[in-house]
Amino acid sequence: MPAYLWGEIGVSHIKRILVTGGAGFLGSHLCERLVEAGHDVICLDNFFTSQKSNIVRLLDFHNFEFIRHDITMPVWLEVDEIYNLACPAAPGHYQYNPIKTTKTSVMGAINVLGMAKRCRARVLQASTSEVYGDPEIHPQPESYRGNVNPIGPRACYDEGKRVAETLFMDYHRSNRVAIKIVRIFNTYGPRMHPYDGRVVSNFIRQAINNEPITLYGDGSQTRSFCYRDDLVEAMIRMMNCDGSFIGPVNIGNPHEFTIRQLAELVVKYTGSKSKFVHKPLPEDDPLQRQPDIALAKEKLDWEPKVELEAGLKATIEWFRNIDMSHYRAPTP
Ligand code: NAD
Ligand code: UDP
Repeated sequence: MPAYLWGEIGVSHIKRILVTGGAGFLGSHLCERLVEAGHDVICLDNFFTSQKSNIVRLLDFHNFEFIRHDITMPVWLEVDEIYNLACPAAPGHYQYNPIKTTKTSVMGAINVLGMAKRCRARVLQASTSEVYGDPEIHPQPESYRGNVNPIGPRACYDEGKRVAETLFMDYHRSNRVAIKIVRIFNTYGPRMHPYDGRVVSNFIRQAINNEPITLYGDGSQTRSFCYRDDLVEAMIRMMNCDGSFIGPVNIGNPHEFTIRQLAELVVKYTGSKSKFVHKPLPEDDPLQRQPDIALAKEKLDWEPKVELEAGLKATIEWFRNIDMSHYRAPTP
């Protein structure tokens, strides 16, 4: 196709988009949405916590390519947009090699920001509700500065993500890099790693297998669960909204549940015979978490649409149809 015809068929709207961590749970869904929209998508991942099966379907698309690379090392690409998702996200995964987790957040941020500066690309950081630590304010607005233990077992993740936010803001202020920051609250859905140790994947796996359901502590701690489709929609809206709105913006479902309530729902929807067992609450485990999403509503015209019942049922269905033995633990 001659270049001068591109504009006539709308190809000028096509962007070259890099998704780091693109083979992961959220990254692979984001890649699918971007490929379906016709963009040229480069997925970069080292498969630390993900499976090739997450992206195998995408390899048939002419507008998708995969690069096996570790984001702690520089990479030279020409792109218009970057979604920076590369980082282990489940506590069991990010505590497996905590020094590497901090390096991934910090050096990964430096590498994507350097690329964005050189290419004049827009870059979005997948930050986290963990920047609020064990919050003393409830629900958590973006203005809350958090209560993070800098020397605890979760610090590699929480502080790594906090430094990444700092780097994003400083590249923006000092070098005028076009940035976006989203703070993601607990998100679940099909393609979660069944052995990642997160609460939704643990409970569904245990319930399907009629194994004991492990409640850490007394199960009264709370989380607010967002379905992955709602989350990915918000990330895309954030990337594409007015460049003057850089965030940080909370993205999550404000409907809050205790962990015991979640367990009861999973048992109900799976028809499981599982009983509950209690295990110790992990150190620094936040006791409550609920996003204040007023800013996302105002700036992105976004709020979640999928309630927990529908999202859990879709996730359970997916778990029933996978071969769990195919999933492996994190590989260094
Ligand atoms: P995930 O573990 O499925 O995805 C992370 C991906 O990053 C994996 O494919 C992994 O192999 C890759 N990765 C890890 N280290 C890397 C490195 N050094 N170089 C290249 N690739 C690397 O987790 P997810 O739930 O899809 O999370 C995606 C992003 O969203 C993460 O940055 C996470 O911190 C953020 N987030 C997720 C949640 C959630 O509830 N799912 C909540 C808050 C923030
Ligand atoms: N949790 C639990 N049983 C499990 C796994 C997790 O009770 O088998 C609890 C955990 O202690 C925490 C909540 O569920 O209070 C959410 O844990 P997850 O690891 O999914 O996410 P995060 O703590 O990072 O929000």
